[in-house]
Amino acid sequence: MGVETYVCPRCGNQDESFLGRNKQGRIYCRRCLSFNGSPAKPNLVRSLDSVLSLSYELSEDQKRLSRRLIENFLAGRDSLVHAVCGAGKTEIVLGVFELALRRGLQCGFAVPRRDVAIELHGRLASAFPGIRCTLVHGGRTNELTGDLIVLTTHQLYRYEQYFDLLVADEIDAFPYRGDFVLESFLRRSVRGRIVFMSATPPPEVLQEFSEEGREILRLDTRFHGHPIPVPRFVESLSIVQPFHAAYFARRYIRQGKPVFLFTPTIGECERCYRLISPFLSGGAFVHSEHPERTRIIHDFREGRLRYLVTTSVLERGVTVKGLQALIIHADQEAIYDRATLVQISGRVGRKKDEPQGDVLFLAERNTEAMKGAVDEIKKSNEALSHMRG
Ligand SMILES: [Zn+2]
Repeated sequence: MGVETYVCPRCGNQDESFLGRNKQGRIYCRRCLSFNGSPAKPNLVRSLDSVLSLSYELSEDQKRLSRRLIENFLAGRDSLVHAVCGAGKTEIVLGVFELALRRGLQCGFAVPRRDVAIELHGRLASAFPGIRCTLVHGGRTNELTGDLIVLTTHQLYRYEQYFDLLVADEIDAFPYRGDFVLESFLRRSVRGRIVFMSATPPPEVLQEFSEEGREILRLDTRFHGHPIPVPRFVESLSIVQPFHAAYFARRYIRQGKPVFLFTPTIGECERCYRLISPFLSGGAFVHSEHPERTRIIHDFREGRLRYLVTTSVLERGVTVKGLQALIIHADQEAIYDRATLVQISGRVGRKKDEPQGDVLFLAERNTEAMKGAVDEIKKSNEALSHMRG
């Protein structure tokens, strides 16, 4: 007898090459085997004070989209927010969260990366001071319930048919995108409505949201109304790029500007820091496997470090005033595809009082991905100037 008709009750997998039988003859699924923590219980204690508290005002565009998300939610429609980097996507969903929270509905906000979840949780907790806003990620699973749960996509398996409103940001990002199990957990965690958000939505998601009963909302303006810095290609031989980058970094640091030096791999990140740190003090390296990652990023944010050599793990989510970005080996297309380069460029110039900044692509050749990223940013900026002008 076959297992063709078996559907994994946890992740929905039907592919029998992922199914096995244990000694007792019971079927198990290898796709979701590693997701074995306890499921979340229903949240029985709802906070009543779900008033949104913001110390700043939304832009006209943000208000318009915020209203539209509320209308869609009330009409039972899912939404995709397609917004350029730095457009202030998070602010747009606060209104619909407030509405859902006031109605006692279960809210969640999922992102692929832990760093981003931590930062987001801080922002949402201060926007809704009267509710229980819970942070859940791989290192923090003792408390699973709350009025608004901010979690990594890896933790969604604990929440089956759970959320009345789930916002999922950076759905185009690793490790979420293209991961069958994570995508499946996300869909299965929602019993109400989904709001997807992305600066660079994958074609299949754009297609899905073009269908009846769903809507794509576009936000082209950065919240402070300034254009995204257009990256510049700096031709440089591979072996001298770390030194070339250190030369640029020193100039920025002298102007009091913090610098990110992006490298394609963890090995390259550590190597590059070893090469340049004797000449350039006040920096550190950080990547996904660095044990003191959180402290280093914190020190950088607080201005105690002047530059960071990093992998693209920091491409999203970290916002620092006056930041400049140097991308070393930008022509390594396996790492630096168009979307990643656009995301990195969007790190720069995000603060209202410091909207300018440089993004330099150090590379031996100007790749299609690099040209594509420049074109996309120019297009966004054109749309912005048309709107203003
Ligand atoms: Zn499964």
